[in-house]
Amino acid sequence: MGNDIASAKSKLEVALMPEPMDRPCHALTVDLEDYFHTETAAQGVSRAEWETQPSRIESSTSRLLDLLDRNAVHATFFVLGWVAKRFPALIEEIHQRGHEVGCHSLNHQLVCRISPREFHETTREAKDLIESIIEEPIQGYRAPNFSILPGYEWAFETLADLGFLYDSSVHPIRHPLYSNPDAPRGPYCVAGGRLMELPIATWRLAGHNLSAGGGAYLRLLPYQYIQRGLKAWEKHMQTPAMVYLHPWELDPNPPRIPLSFKSTIRQTWGTSAMEAKLQRLFEQFHFAPVRDAYKSLLGDKEFLPRKTPFQLTEQVKQVAG
Ligand SMILES: [Zn+2]
Repeated sequence: MGNDIASAKSKLEVALMPEPMDRPCHALTVDLEDYFHTETAAQGVSRAEWETQPSRIESSTSRLLDLLDRNAVHATFFVLGWVAKRFPALIEEIHQRGHEVGCHSLNHQLVCRISPREFHETTREAKDLIESIIEEPIQGYRAPNFSILPGYEWAFETLADLGFLYDSSVHPIRHPLYSNPDAPRGPYCVAGGRLMELPIATWRLAGHNLSAGGGAYLRLLPYQYIQRGLKAWEKHMQTPAMVYLHPWELDPNPPRIPLSFKSTIRQTWGTSAMEAKLQRLFEQFHFAPVRDAYKSLLGDKEFLPRKTPFQLTEQVKQVAG
């Protein structure tokens, strides 16, 4: 046990060491889902109608993969099981083009709306499905809508039991759908030290956390917003920033869904400018998949068998949070 603690402590120290000041490395992540899978789209498209919706997943993901290739950037793709089942060749292609593959649930059901048993069964099904396509174990999970909220920490135990090594389902901001503003901003241990939580990047301003993690905040706001948020992160936090996006956010002609005006903005605005914003982001900041960006914190695969818990929960919270 003593050696485990010493080893984890030294890995933590390495992880928290400042990267070279000119190019800190951040984590780029993609939630691989179609435009009609979102909570916003659910107001206009029911789950039963998913099968009959015109899919845009191949075209929008292809656009994103080409953009990443042009910039020599690799990312982590958290794959929705529903997509993996219908587009296995797409998952294979993502994997073959050098990206890390993780899990984004089976059917985009929010953790806070299903039972622990259903979460266990559906997550295991999605993990098995994705691993059967890429023929290697996956390590990372992201819940739909950052839905591992306070009171649902049992989900961390389930993820650790299923063999995941890290989770990125906490977005420490106030939000109508996934408010979690008191969560640590930096990496911390959960599930008794068996799983590392890597929250979405935030920008601490006037006593509040604002999102600096991409997604709609990158798509709908001027580029300078995310730029300043990430610069602030680099100045004050000594770990990689966790950034996310969706392929459908790059679709310049998203199919129309009957939604309220506010939801239409949230679902479709800004998509034609997203590619140019990402290009600027890739020119200004350095990104890698989660497994590489957080390598010194997560360790090598060999370091992370389920029986070897991360030990420094409180210390990580204090130093990084
Ligand atoms: Zn999602």
